Parts: sequence; structure tokens; C-alpha cells
Amino acid sequence: MTDRYAVIGNPIAHSKSPRIHAAFARQSAQDLDYRAILAPLDGFAAAVAQFVASGGRGMNVTVPFKLEAFALADRHTARAEAAGAVNTLKFEQGEILGDNTDGAGLVADLLRNIGCPLAGNRLLLLGAGGAARGVILPLLDQSPASLTVANRTASRAAQLRDAFAGHGNLAALAFAELAGQQFDVVINATSASLAGAAPAIPPGLYAPGSTAYDMMYGRGLTPFLAAAQAQGAGRLADGLGMLVEQAAESFLLWRGVRPDTRPVLAELAGELHRA
Ligand code: NDP
Repeated sequence: MTDRYAVIGNPIAHSKSPRIHAAFARQSAQDLDYRAILAPLDGFAAAVAQFVASGGRGMNVTVPFKLEAFALADRHTARAEAAGAVNTLKFEQGEILGDNTDGAGLVADLLRNIGCPLAGNRLLLLGAGGAARGVILPLLDQSPASLTVANRTASRAAQLRDAFAGHGNLAALAFAELAGQQFDVVINATSASLAGAAPAIPPGLYAPGSTAYDMMYGRGLTPFLAAAQAQGAGRLADGLGMLVEQAAESFLLWRGVRPDTRPVLAELAGELHRA
């Protein structure tokens, strides 16, 4: 029988995950079916239960259900525990395992696809929401020289610093307090680009040859990447690679095989940059 997987969210029609996982399945000759499920905003747990009852083996979870997925899981991986959010569910022997592959996806994209080293570098993470929280531990695991979290609402950055105390060298600042500092890698984990804006960070933060990375992706430069280019960032990258890499980490958890992400990423990138 074909194994069943799905991505669940609201909205979900835009999701590229079914295409990504279909490509992974073809590439690794795995027999599986992966589709998108739109759950009502008040119906996440019921939709998961229905999928499990119909023989579902695993799910990706996207906006706005990552916290509910964390609460629903019976067990968590260490990285999901640290993130406090779950983007991958695995159903096995009547139990729900919750994982979070977003951080591993970001790190894999930076290191393998972009060729941006993290060890020994000064990292700046903008934002203090779910996406920022999920990538802090995987970034600290890369032994950067420093990791600074800055957020529009500074108190939320401070909460993250306190939550990760003991895991590494993590500083928390308000945007204005960044003035005068320089960073080798600046990662935008705010949702400002969704509203067509760039976070209001001071100029002069980009060290020579630095990388600007936006977790958002789309056609052309996001507002954050356009601003980074104007401020002298040496290299620009959007979050399409993170999307494909986090999917590959989920596939590995479910199927025990890590797909080759390069052809899948090249195809999606080609489409985005057409038209
Ligand atoms: P949340 O809603 O949890 O957090 C939003 C964050 O953005 C907060 O820190 C908020 O600051 C900040 N923010 C919002 N608007 C602005 C603004 N105009 N200027 C400055 N800061 C702003 O969202 P998530 O953390 O879940 O997601 C963040 C982004 O990451 C989204 O765009 C999402 O699409 C993307 N993402 C991409 C992934 C990928 O695979 N490529 C995976 C996961 C997420 P404040 O606290 O002050 O409100």
C-alpha cells in the first residue's frame, strides 16, 4: 500500500511542499503519496486525527499550526523541544513524534547551497517569533563567534536570550542598539517582507563580504534583500533553499533517506525567476 503524507496549514493552496516531496519520492524510488490539507483554524487536531485514521504516516505543519502541533505531539526531538514548535509529525505505533526541521534546513542551505560558513563568524538574527526561535540552537551548534538576536519589540529578543542561556554566546538587542556593530551573516526571520517592508535596522551593519539571508522568498529581491544590497551586503540569498532543505530533513525522518536537494531547488528557483 502507498504510504501517505501531507502538509497541513491554513492557507495551504500556495504550498510547494507536495511538489518538493513528489520530486524527492521519484528521485529515491519511494512509493508515497503527499498532498496538501487545508484545516479549519479551529480544526487542526481533528484534521490530524482523521489523517492518521486514514493511514497517514507523517505530516508537515505550517502557518498557523506549529504551536498546536507541538502541543499535540506525544514526544519531541531535542530540536523541537528547543524550538517550542513543530513542523514535522511522524505517526508510529499509535504515537505522535514532533520534530522541527526548519533550523537544520536553514543551516544546510547556508553551508551547502550558498557556501556561507557560520563557524567563527558574527551572526545577526532579526526577529523573535517562531521562525527565529527554531533556528537559534542549530545556529549556535555551528560555533559562530557570536549570535545576536534583535527584534522590533526588544523584550521578545531578551526572552529568547534567557530561554537559550547556557546553550552558547547569545546577545539580545533592540534594532537601534545595533548601530556601530558589524556582522558577517544577517538573517531576516521577521515577517516584515510579507507587508512589503524591511526591518528598520541601522545602516552600516554589513561587514565586507557579508551575507544577507531572508527566510522569505519570492520573485526578485525581497524588501530586506533590496535594502541589504543598498547597504553593501556582499551576497544575497532568499529562503527558497531553506524550504527545500527543511523538506529534505523531514523526508529523512520519515523514510531514512536524505534526498539530493540540488535538482529540486534548481527547478523551483528557475520557475521563480522566470516571468
Ligand atoms: P511570527 O509571527 O512568529 O513572528 C514575526 C516576527 O516578525 C516578530 O519578531 C515581529 O516583531 C517581526 N516583525 C513583523 N513585522 C515587522 C516589521 N514591519 N518590522 C520589523 N519586524 C517585524 O512569524 P514567524 O517567526 O513564524 O515567521 C517569520 C518569517 O519567516 C515569515 O515570513 C515566514 O514566512 C518565514 N519562514 C520561512 C521558512 C522557510 O522555510 N523559508 C520557514 C519558517 C518561516 P515583533 O515581535 O516586534 O512583533
